[in-house]
Amino acid sequence: MTKNPVIGLLGGGQLGRMLCQAAAPLGITIAVLDAEDCPAKQINHNDLHVTGSFKDPEKIKKLASRCDVLTVEIEHVECDVLEEIATKGVEVPSPDGNGTIMKRVPVHPSYKTIRLIQDKFQQKEYFANNWLPVAPQMAIESGHGRIASIQEAAKRFGFPFMLKGAKGSYDGRGNFKVRGTDDFESAVAQMGDQPLYAEKFVPFQMELAVMVMRTEDDDGNLKNVYPYPVVETIHEDSICTKVFFPPRNVAESITQKAQKVACDVVSRLWGRGVFAVEMFLVGDEILINEIAPRPHNSGHLTIELVPQRSQFRAQLDSILDRVPSPEFSFVPQFPSAIMLNILGGAEPHSHDKLVNLATSFYHRHANAALNLYGKESKPGRKIGHITAWGQSSVEQLSDRIGHLIKCMDDIRA
Ligand code: ATP
Ligand code: MG
Ligand code: MG
Repeated sequence: MTKNPVIGLLGGGQLGRMLCQAAAPLGITIAVLDAEDCPAKQINHNDLHVTGSFKDPEKIKKLASRCDVLTVEIEHVECDVLEEIATKGVEVPSPDGNGTIMKRVPVHPSYKTIRLIQDKFQQKEYFANNWLPVAPQMAIESGHGRIASIQEAAKRFGFPFMLKGAKGSYDGRGNFKVRGTDDFESAVAQMGDQPLYAEKFVPFQMELAVMVMRTEDDDGNLKNVYPYPVVETIHEDSICTKVFFPPRNVAESITQKAQKVACDVVSRLWGRGVFAVEMFLVGDEILINEIAPRPHNSGHLTIELVPQRSQFRAQLDSILDRVPSPEFSFVPQFPSAIMLNILGGAEPHSHDKLVNLATSFYHRHANAALNLYGKESKPGRKIGHITAWGQSSVEQLSDRIGHLIKCMDDIRA
């Protein structure tokens, strides 16, 4: 690897933008494949960017030809070409100027991980086969057998149960909660003919998430996994809206268990990087909901909570194999932190009031940060976030920013 490696990034949304913010002071160049005015390119100018889609094999090859290593900010990318680039290589001009040679470009996390995670049903089958705790699930047939298959799921799981699109879903957009037989027709109509699976409904009391950094040697052997502190995530209409550190009223034995489950599952994946492990807490049991093989909304508060070791810095350190010491751990610098997503409201400027409140909170107390992504506002779209932190308990911090929480709830209403 060269001294100043060039990282190729598939996708240039807010996660890519924050990765570029972490990379710039370290002198690491990030070449982004996405639309010309995407959030990551707005703040990161260089002549290596590629304009196009992270699903377009030719554009991915073009990006790879300019980079030392590839990574992703989204899992819904074209994966076969990533395998080709990592194993056979990509054509580049030969150094002597005569013809071309093949250059292999490592992909982190591995294309194997990305491929597995792209299919939520296969992902959880793999976890279950490895004795990792997941909710019971079954594949739903396509075509004529679909209704019978959904009836079978109802028999097996009872009502309500979840119908989920296996591929391409995010922010709950591929999910349907089936409450009774009356829902069958509308579920089938709404989900279309995409591959589906059914999942037992989990009556969780809380959702937890753990970011994990995974390190690996050049031969693909696991070196270590490092968990971040556990957070509580709040989803409203299936979209993450708020994140609390630490989780409210959760015993330390539970958070330790959540970190252990998260490390176990990430150990069984492939490649370097950071991974989000979304979990359900049911009684004192932990079930894995799903994994994101990249930085994640639940990890945004690591920017302030674990300075110099945010999830974005960790992604850089791990993919470049620059983790300083095998012994270190991610230590929170404050006893509490809360992240609030800024979601677009009904009007293009609905969120202005929340931004103003966050700014004046910062002027009064300093311990709050505003992070806008440079995205046009659309209803329900993640366009920024606010993090507040303090020396008090998370409940007291929540009270202190109660006016911000109320304002964001009003925008959604
Ligand atoms: P994203 O990738 O943006 O996190 P997604 O579209 O992959 O979302 P899921 O994580 O499968 O969606 O589900 C979104 C939310 O729906 C969960 O965070 C949880 O609140 C709820 N949910 C999903 N599956 C279940 C289940 N089996 N039982 C109860 N609630 C569920
Ligand atoms: Mg998902
Ligand atoms: Mg999810």
